[in-house]
Amino acid sequence: MVEKINNEGFQTRNDLNYFLTELKEQESWLYSYHSKMLQMISTQIDGAQKSLIALNKKGHKVGKLKFAKYIEYRTFAYNQSGFEIKDGFLHLSKIGKIKIMQHRKIPENIEIKQIAVTRSKTGKWYCSITCDVDAVLTKFSITKSVGIDVGIKNFAYDSDGFVTPNPLNLQKMLKPLARAQRKIARRQKGSNNRKKAVRWYQIVHERVKNRRKDFLHQISTQYARKYDVIFLERLQKLNMVKNHKWARNILDSGWGTFTNMLDYKCMLVEVPAKNTTIDCSRCGNAVPKSLVVRTHRCDVCGLVLDRDHNAAINILKKGLDIFNINLPQELREVTPVEIIPWSVKQEEATGRLVVVH
Ligand SMILES: [Zn+2]
Repeated sequence: MVEKINNEGFQTRNDLNYFLTELKEQESWLYSYHSKMLQMISTQIDGAQKSLIALNKKGHKVGKLKFAKYIEYRTFAYNQSGFEIKDGFLHLSKIGKIKIMQHRKIPENIEIKQIAVTRSKTGKWYCSITCDVDAVLTKFSITKSVGIDVGIKNFAYDSDGFVTPNPLNLQKMLKPLARAQRKIARRQKGSNNRKKAVRWYQIVHERVKNRRKDFLHQISTQYARKYDVIFLERLQKLNMVKNHKWARNILDSGWGTFTNMLDYKCMLVEVPAKNTTIDCSRCGNAVPKSLVVRTHRCDVCGLVLDRDHNAAINILKKGLDIFNINLPQELREVTPVEIIPWSVKQEEATGRLVVVH
């Protein structure tokens, strides 16, 4: 299909599905795969060609569709039919019965839309199950809101003064990762030893990723339980990390993942990042400071505060501004406090609210 698109230009999804039927005539081995699973591949390729076209329209330079490398192609999906989950087993048509460990119950009388099976880089198999569920809308109260400043020194510093440092294990784990990477570099290309080294690297990498994810789940759940509304700065701190390449990748993805987790666990509102670290959270006076200055000191009102705490209060302020609420006097003095009760129904604010200045 990729070849066909690259040679003959745009193909509709119907074209691709028709091509698939033709292919089956020539390549009989395709019959050993479930038809819906193969059709999902034409859907994927169709999506890929459309996003290339969209990028091109936006003025991006785009090349041709690329073939997925065999080792990087690790997911297949069954859509609508060809699967069943019963008594701890996943039945997949043309594949068979597979014992599974189910981490949560599937609601009864609910139609499963799709099953996607993925093999991780280190050879573990996962299956994600997609169902259509009626959402339960809960009321939320602006009374329970907090501003969070995310950063490198501290993963999160919130406007109530609660600090979550970046876990040390991340730094610790980065060393074995670097070691594994160097090992690959020393091995000859194409050799068995290099393959072994690559595999080891992937195992270490997956371990770091899982620990990171676990950490992010813990802290986002903590925040979602404690607060209804969370204000975050729109992420644009990427240039701040001058660390190691990997540290950077993992930290970067960490912030993004954290944002996504908060977004589905509670109500997340992103505020513009402008001047949150500079402005004094008590009087608004601009106090420019370089990255190494960890304390905010205001000459005008005399406020002395951790720089991240000051930023977090500014973020909360900006967030409350959106709802037309002034920061309570008490919080300006930096003591935890109840904010004026004000509730909105979640239907009125669908999805992530992004405010652009
Ligand atoms: Zn001040």
